[in-house]
Amino acid sequence: MDQTLQHKKKVVIVGSGIAGLACAVRLAAKGHEVIVFEAGDGPGGKLHEFRLGPYRFDFGPSLFTMPHLVDDLFRLAGKSPSDYFKYSQLDILCQYFWDDGTKTHTYADLDRTIQRLSADLGEDAEKLRSHFEDSKSKYEAVGKIFLEKSLHDLSTWMTRGVVKALFKIPSLHLFSTMHDVNARTFQNKKTIQLFDRYATYNGSNPYKAPGLLNIIPHFEYGFGAFIPQNGMNDISNALYHLASDLGVSFQFNTKIKTITAQQNKVGGVVTERGEKIEADIVVSNMDAYYTYKHLLTNENRAQNILKQERSSSAMIFYWGIADTFKELDLHNIFFSADYQKEYQHISEGTISDDPTVYINITSKYVEGDAPEDHENWFTMINVPYDRGQDWQMMAQIARTHVLRKLSFILKRDIATLIHQERIVTPDIIDKKTLSYTGSLYGTSSNDRMAAFARHPNKSPDFDNLFFLGGSVHPGGGIPLCLFSASIVDDMIP
Ligand SMILES: Cc1cc2nc3c(=O)[nH]c(=O)nc-3n(C[C@H](O)[C@H](O)[C@H](O)COP(=O)(O)OP(=O)(O)OC[C@H]3O[C@@H](n4cnc5c(N)ncnc54)[C@H](O)[C@@H]3O)c2cc1C
Repeated sequence: MDQTLQHKKKVVIVGSGIAGLACAVRLAAKGHEVIVFEAGDGPGGKLHEFRLGPYRFDFGPSLFTMPHLVDDLFRLAGKSPSDYFKYSQLDILCQYFWDDGTKTHTYADLDRTIQRLSADLGEDAEKLRSHFEDSKSKYEAVGKIFLEKSLHDLSTWMTRGVVKALFKIPSLHLFSTMHDVNARTFQNKKTIQLFDRYATYNGSNPYKAPGLLNIIPHFEYGFGAFIPQNGMNDISNALYHLASDLGVSFQFNTKIKTITAQQNKVGGVVTERGEKIEADIVVSNMDAYYTYKHLLTNENRAQNILKQERSSSAMIFYWGIADTFKELDLHNIFFSADYQKEYQHISEGTISDDPTVYINITSKYVEGDAPEDHENWFTMINVPYDRGQDWQMMAQIARTHVLRKLSFILKRDIATLIHQERIVTPDIIDKKTLSYTGSLYGTSSNDRMAAFARHPNKSPDFDNLFFLGGSVHPGGGIPLCLFSASIVDDMIP
């Protein structure tokens, strides 16, 4: 009998976020029958797009690194990546601005970045180089273990890589904070701030997160930063088309209400409309807290997830801007004067009156994202996760502070240029993407044991239930979500 048919299983995936899409591709390529149920009206979860008048916006992620992880999915399905998905590498990674008029920027090319930061911030070139090398060596020491493998599988710990990593522990900076390490390394407060900001890449706080998180710059400088041809939504679209071509069936506007279970096995799912679908394997790509709370009604497990601190969230002002700004690029940061105070506010559930502002402008690279002589500004600040704050009021106050800061630094009255506007707050992120408290990255990495506390990819209760995506191991962000799909793939023959 054909081996493919012998082991063919019926797999239900709940959620079509980036991890759900990647897992659907992987399992369909192995010959399994895969059905994806998605509560929303299209694929991608946080990675979707919308239009505001003549402007196109990506809803969530804007930074794309490690594109080979997406390409790999096409290759393993026997297809050519470029038939589905095109992207280009950025030369300038990010423009940085401060209130006192200081400006700098970073490049994909490390030597040019070092020269630039050294010239603009007066930082020692050798210290910069050794910091980047340290980031790389941290990634090489632990990246494969902590990101690409299950931490709950004994075989992960029985490798030479683990022994090597144990010898590296002192240089991993597990017992100092990210900020402490950066403050010991650099002399200019602005360089420290620039490197501290990498904590936000997984919703953490540089004043609490371990120095190991200084691994994050390596994602940008080691692997590069990229932009898909038509914006970030291309990633979801391309994987959706690939999965469909492999025979995966998608049911949109179909929310799953229950995962049926008996003893140590799950039997399938029940939709909100009451349809029952049997399955050999169920994979949850939805928020792990909501999976336990609603689909499995296991309050104990749900509360266990809440023992870990939630990651931060975001407030986003999507602005159609009736002008163009030569000094801006795709990624732009306007730093606060007091970074520590900003994080103090986030910890306390409030927003500083001088938040760091990030602006992403895809119309700089993607034709048609804004009309001629206009730009599409995805203007974002980091904010606390939702604890029932009055977000409408907080958004109005924050909007005033953001506009004041941008108008001051860019020397133009930005409010008068806003042609179209949509505002998204953490409570909206929760409702729209069904992510508990609107946390962008599930749980934070503020604790040095966070990697071990994050929910595993295989259920501790049921043999045939698996978990994927930003709320479980290895964490949030596109590359890590793609790793979670690969880990689950390894667990399903
Ligand atoms: C504003 C913002 C900015 C970000 N910036 C970046 C960035 O620059 N770079 C980066 O790498 N990452 C970024 N992220 C994080 C990144 O978007 C996420 O980590 C990643 O997209 C999460 O993917 P996921 O697979 O966990 O699924 P999600 O995107 O969380 O999707 C889960 C899906 O499950 C569906 N679902 C939930 N419950 C049910 C149910 N009961 N039945 C059926 N379907 C259900 C939801 O509708 C949703 O579509 C950002 C996120 C946000 C919100």
